[in-house]
Amino acid sequence: MRLINTVDGLRKELSGLRKTKQTVGFVPTMGALHKGHLSLVKQSLAENDICVVSIFVNPTQFNDKEDLKKYPRDIEKDCQLLTTVSDKIIVFNPSESEIYPEPDTRCFDFGQIDKVMEGKYRPGHFNGVAQVVSRLFDIVKPDKAYFGEKDFQQLAVIRDMARQLRLGIQIVPMPIVREENGLALSSRNELLTPSQKIEAAKISEELKNSKAEMYKRVSVPETIHSVTERLNKVEGMTVEYFEIVDGITLQPIENWYDTEYVVGCIAVYLGKVRLIDNIEYSKNDK
Ligand code: AMP
Repeated sequence: MRLINTVDGLRKELSGLRKTKQTVGFVPTMGALHKGHLSLVKQSLAENDICVVSIFVNPTQFNDKEDLKKYPRDIEKDCQLLTTVSDKIIVFNPSESEIYPEPDTRCFDFGQIDKVMEGKYRPGHFNGVAQVVSRLFDIVKPDKAYFGEKDFQQLAVIRDMARQLRLGIQIVPMPIVREENGLALSSRNELLTPSQKIEAAKISEELKNSKAEMYKRVSVPETIHSVTERLNKVEGMTVEYFEIVDGITLQPIENWYDTEYVVGCIAVYLGKVRLIDNIEYSKNDK
């Protein structure tokens, strides 16, 4: 593992590696690494010679300044963890001024993809994500970049951005890694108390139950109503949205048969911590 803090330093290192025809995989993160991040890193190492892991808490994607302030940060722990994985990892941990030497005023247009769900409840969030990821792609110029399906809408936005900018970078989606109790791993889980972590498992439990019991059996609106109601009854939990959408366009569907790719996406507050998760209804689990 090598730690690099500057854009110039990283560019130099990577141009040396490219001269020997080494391929570069890229995993952008905001740190506080867990097994979900590591699954992306391991896949990247399996498919490329080198893996660049960026650790940068990007201010432009936080619509809530309090959320930005309390976002967990521990670069030493992250580096220790990555050291145990492979010596083919370069950690890029830039300062804000390295990434934004001047304010980024670019506005991206993702059509309807970013108008719903996260885009609706976190105005400006995906524009900030696109700003930082496009900047990081330009610095790293990876062959492939790895993103988790945990952030389902983000993945759609990144794919669209890579297509629009004709970057020629292969975007590789990776499945959600969960705790044994089903809770999707997230850096924000660190902000939960032990009892909240147990309560939080109800999110994936209800999603799974709805797939087993309601998919194509009860209507889409009834499913939305039922999952939302059950979760709102959990101590300290408030559902911000639960939508059942076409997995490509991310637009809400009214009927299970409106698309062959059906995904349910949810955001809840548990106390002050915001958690997201999703389930693909149309995937055959067996
Ligand atoms: P973050 O540090 O939260 O910005 O996440 C960095 C990358 O890791 C994103 O592509 C996320 O989708 C992915 N990721 C985060 N949590 C998980 C998880 N539980 N399973 C799989 N990928 C994840």
